[in-house]
Amino acid sequence: IGGNDRRANSLEARDVATILHPYTNPVVHEADGPLVLARGDGIHVIDSEGNRYVEALAGLFCASLGFSESRLVEAAHRQMQALPFYHSFGGRSHEPAIELSERLIAMAPVPMSKVFFANSGSEANDTAIKLVWYYHNAIGKPRKKKIISRQRAYHGVTVASASLTGLPYTHKAFDLPLAGILHTDCPSLYHHGLPGETEEQFATRCAQSLEALILGEDPDTIGAFFAEPLMASGGCIVPPATYYEKIQAVLRRYDILLIADEVICGFGRLGTLFGSEAFGLKPDMISMAKQLSAGYQPISALMVNETIYGAVREQGGAIGTFGHGFTYSGHPVATAVALETLRIYEERDILGHVRAVAPVMQAALDGLAGHPLVGDKRGMGLIGALEITSDKATKTPFDPALGVAAKVGKFAQARGVITRAMGDMIHLCPPLIITADEIRDVVAKIGGALDDTL
Ligand code: PLP
Repeated sequence: IGGNDRRANSLEARDVATILHPYTNPVVHEADGPLVLARGDGIHVIDSEGNRYVEALAGLFCASLGFSESRLVEAAHRQMQALPFYHSFGGRSHEPAIELSERLIAMAPVPMSKVFFANSGSEANDTAIKLVWYYHNAIGKPRKKKIISRQRAYHGVTVASASLTGLPYTHKAFDLPLAGILHTDCPSLYHHGLPGETEEQFATRCAQSLEALILGEDPDTIGAFFAEPLMASGGCIVPPATYYEKIQAVLRRYDILLIADEVICGFGRLGTLFGSEAFGLKPDMISMAKQLSAGYQPISALMVNETIYGAVREQGGAIGTFGHGFTYSGHPVATAVALETLRIYEERDILGHVRAVAPVMQAALDGLAGHPLVGDKRGMGLIGALEITSDKATKTPFDPALGVAAKVGKFAQARGVITRAMGDMIHLCPPLIITADEIRDVVAKIGGALDDTL
């Protein structure tokens, strides 16, 4: 498997000598070296030695249009020539940002009032946290500042968004989470359901547990609840039937804002424009990134409803300037590429394509559920995951030191498929343009990788 070339001055050696890689074990990296990618071609990427792989995770859940969409390259080039940089501070603006905001507001699953641009999902979620605090100060409820997220959630890695994230390795040794950010249950029936419990009964229990947490803390101190419609990185957790109906009833009872993190679900991944539509979420704010620009430019957005924007206006009267923003908020090239991405989604009916091929992917993955190493298969639309277990009946995981899922990932890579093997999970989230035949081929190769691991 590529990445083992340790000759002096090879790209691999230079990488190991200089780069601190995100989400990488440095000891393993020094031993294994990097996989150095050189170029992209449709749903494939090609490494520096010429090996070709299907990118079955769309990079990091983002390259929805694959890796060689010339229209996005041209959109970036045109904008680079016209106005390569400008900022949005102090009311400066430009056409791509204006048109992109208009489109996003028109596409929103619930009425939204304004769009705030940032560069990453983490920044969009950090902005949402700050707005929860800003909003409650504006309406004279300065105690209503605590935020509830969920165990296994993934909302990013900046200090505040990493606190929302509910995965131990994002907190351990970083002294996180921040005080005032709490975690309620992960709605995974597979992991937390009681024997014989239905989805509805489990959803009721999750909502009761949320309510108990709120009452225990004092409802007047809880400002907001964050949720990915489908929890992706935490294990492709599809919420049980009636879950959001029950959760939202609790939030309404105690006047708690809802923020939908659509960073992965947004723009067609689940077969709906937004994950909120799939599960009936009615958020006050929506964060989005990744497929917003097909991953071709770093850009994220936070949409806020009129209630939130009204409070920002209110503060404008009281304290003046809205003191928040990034140098690259609404970057012209990033907004131009995002705009072109949304045009392509519409012109090529990407949503219709996802709806047509998603059943092929889910059925193919279902076909691996009986494999001796697979404890559970979960998924919806064009996202799915296999959970690796040492004992199907007791759902016992393998000793993490054995790195069994990582081995499956390596064997898949040797067969020409890049997936994401994390913890006990093998994640699949291919570019949205993948065809039915390509899906069958990818899943067959993952089946082969599972056999290789046995
Ligand atoms: N929210 C969700 C649901 C994500 O999956 C991610 C990244 O994977 C983020 C937020 C953070 O986005 P970023 O890595 O762009 O900061």
